[in-house]
Amino acid sequence: MIYSMFENENNSSRGSIEVICGSMFSGKTEELLRRLKRAKIANQPVMIFKPSVDTRYDKEQVVSHDKNAIASTPLSQARDILDLSKKGCVVGIDEAQFFDNAIIEVAQILADRGHRVIIAGLDMDFKRQPFGPMAELCAIADSVHKIHAICMDCGRLANYSYRLVEGDKQVMLGEKQEYSPLCRSCYLEHKGRNNSIITKNNNNDDL
Ligand SMILES: [Zn+2]
Repeated sequence: MIYSMFENENNSSRGSIEVICGSMFSGKTEELLRRLKRAKIANQPVMIFKPSVDTRYDKEQVVSHDKNAIASTPLSQARDILDLSKKGCVVGIDEAQFFDNAIIEVAQILADRGHRVIIAGLDMDFKRQPFGPMAELCAIADSVHKIHAICMDCGRLANYSYRLVEGDKQVMLGEKQEYSPLCRSCYLEHKGRNNSIITKNNNNDDL
């Protein structure tokens, strides 16, 4: 029994799900690319998919903020990954928070088929709520790596993507002028400041 357990662990074709999550500017895509590049060096075929909603940069590339790019396939629905993933390849999925919930089952099926699946995505939205399918992906993953940005205010580790511009929509694609990574105490401080501005304005309206 014990022997077969170890045998399984050493079987290179054994599927797995790895999740890399964190706030904006935490280096999620860089970490995804680092792992995929290592797989490539080990002569493993690699495929990358991302949701087509992310059109900030080149449509055919996974491009991180430092322009460290690998070609990828943009898809409008998660289930297409099942048909497109070639046998035995390592499957990279970037910006997974923007995929529909089918991505959870897709990841599970791919891993069951023996694929190594590496998923990168935002764990929380700007309101600190779990983003799209990410919480469930973390739950079903074999390993979860939570990485951090640097707080723009105090230089400590940042967990949160603070939105600098007006708007309540969850999906607003990020650039440096729209979001700022903040730690817990700086996030609360900024939020408190904003709330007091809103309260002040409301009071003015009453007058
Ligand atoms: Zn801070």
